[in-house]
Amino acid sequence: MTNLFLFLSAVITSVSSPDGKLKVDLSFPQSSYTVSYEGKTMLDDSPLGLVADWADFSGNLSLVSSETGRIDNNYSLDRCKTANVHYLANTLVADVQNAEGQRLQIEFRVSNNDIAFRYVFPKVKGTVGTRIMEECTGYRFPEGTTTFLCPQSKAMIGWKRSKPSYEEEYKADAPMDERSRYGKGYTFPCLFHVGDGWVLLSETGVDSRYCASHLSDYRDGLYRIAFPMPEENNGNGTVEPAFAMPGATPWRTITVGSSLKPIVETTAPWDNVEPLYQPSQEYRYGRSTWSWIVWQDDSMNWDDQITFIDLAAEMGYEYILVDAGWDKQIGYERMPELIRYAQSRKVDVFLWYSSSGYWNDIVQSPVNRMDNSIIRKREMAWMKSLGVKGIKVDFWGGDKQETMRLYEQVLSDANDYGLMVIFHGCTLPRGWERMYPNYVGSEAVLASENLIFEQHFCDQEGFNACLHPFIRNTVGCMEFGGCILNSRLHKSNSKGNVRKTSVGFQLATQIIFQNPIQNVAITPNNLSDAPAEAIEFLRNLPTAWDETVFIDGYPGKSITLKRRHGSKWYTAHLDAASGDGWVKVSE
Ligand code: CA
Repeated sequence: MTNLFLFLSAVITSVSSPDGKLKVDLSFPQSSYTVSYEGKTMLDDSPLGLVADWADFSGNLSLVSSETGRIDNNYSLDRCKTANVHYLANTLVADVQNAEGQRLQIEFRVSNNDIAFRYVFPKVKGTVGTRIMEECTGYRFPEGTTTFLCPQSKAMIGWKRSKPSYEEEYKADAPMDERSRYGKGYTFPCLFHVGDGWVLLSETGVDSRYCASHLSDYRDGLYRIAFPMPEENNGNGTVEPAFAMPGATPWRTITVGSSLKPIVETTAPWDNVEPLYQPSQEYRYGRSTWSWIVWQDDSMNWDDQITFIDLAAEMGYEYILVDAGWDKQIGYERMPELIRYAQSRKVDVFLWYSSSGYWNDIVQSPVNRMDNSIIRKREMAWMKSLGVKGIKVDFWGGDKQETMRLYEQVLSDANDYGLMVIFHGCTLPRGWERMYPNYVGSEAVLASENLIFEQHFCDQEGFNACLHPFIRNTVGCMEFGGCILNSRLHKSNSKGNVRKTSVGFQLATQIIFQNPIQNVAITPNNLSDAPAEAIEFLRNLPTAWDETVFIDGYPGKSITLKRRHGSKWYTAHLDAASGDGWVKVSE
């Protein structure tokens, strides 16, 4: 009988996936949601709501009305794990109001293995601008759930005060009630093993109109959406995002499966975003050499860059990435000649830039070219005049809306000048492969450079590599810059850190780590000291895929997947414990 009161007072409205297995129940006025898959609870009684500067929607919301619908949409992607997506979802828009009668909509889209939801502000009489002071969205997992999480760094620490940069170490199968390394929560995406099933949390559709969010530490039995830290961007810019109404928050995504297959194959980052502008031209993806990764800073000189242009030409690669320091060690005045030489060898050029700026102490140059629209456009016009095809912009300031605006401005301006853009030392891309036509990859991972920096990362290479296809790389392009064929991580190949993984493993990462521009870490000596089949394989390496199929594996232990490029299937396998791996190519 005690349930009667609850039954009378609670209003529950539900939406299920087209196949009926994934179900979301929303409860009002509790303002919470639950998620179940095949009848099993995946998220229990988790809070919804937010606090705006002009209205409090943090709880006690009453349901005014709800409307259901269906989305049946086909779209294509040209630089991700899959080329053609059929997005079929049931939708629910819950119109809610707070005690003051102020209105908000909570919009859910539920496909067979993915939930996307967001808060939508209708037009409000007399108020146009809204700040979001706090998002109450939470995730309450059943007891016994284990986690695969990457801690958020403190701000303004690390190399030249350049963090956070999504370059922290994961823990696998950790309990929920462990404090994160820095006490600052976790960066997206976040993977959870829930009973026999799996849940991946992330967000998408983040552009100049919001901040990038992350997950809080575990408190009171749940994780919550957390905004950036005040110290990010050297303290400049607000933590709370703001936008004009009508408007909406980014999509929170929840990928759910009874196996890891939907986790590895998800298209949740792209299903509910749209291109924000048209490409100014057709962008050509491909492979690149880069001297910096193994030969390091000293190689940013004329002779070594000629050597790596010749290596790219020898490999049939489309590009060379000329990394940090070219402005000083080669010089602006000699760049036209270097670029003309590359073009004469049918190799096009990417140039490195620092994003900064006041938000760190980076001295790697060029600096102060990308943070100011006047200088940036002048620089981009210079690049266009020389036929430069792309830029790699490194060392970003954090996740505040301030920085999201700069990412978008750099992308949009670069498109005007025919440049593709890679980000390093940066945030996770959140739907950007579809939103920005010239976006071609982000680091946002402990990438190949760490193998050079510390033996520890060579020792952990297998473990880390076997996480990415399930977590970081499944929600966005990952510009890892790997495939190191030297057995010692040094120009001489006879000293430096020791590679603990096999050549087969290195080749397999080129299939398993997905990015439309692959900066391959080979060096000229590899043409003669690496197995001939390895070089032959790398000559014919595709970088964008028509289909991706998960076969087997477990995060941090192993992965087997296959990807199709045209009529060819590339099946690739990595094993963390042995450091072995392989690729098989079949028609
Ligand atoms: Ca980095």
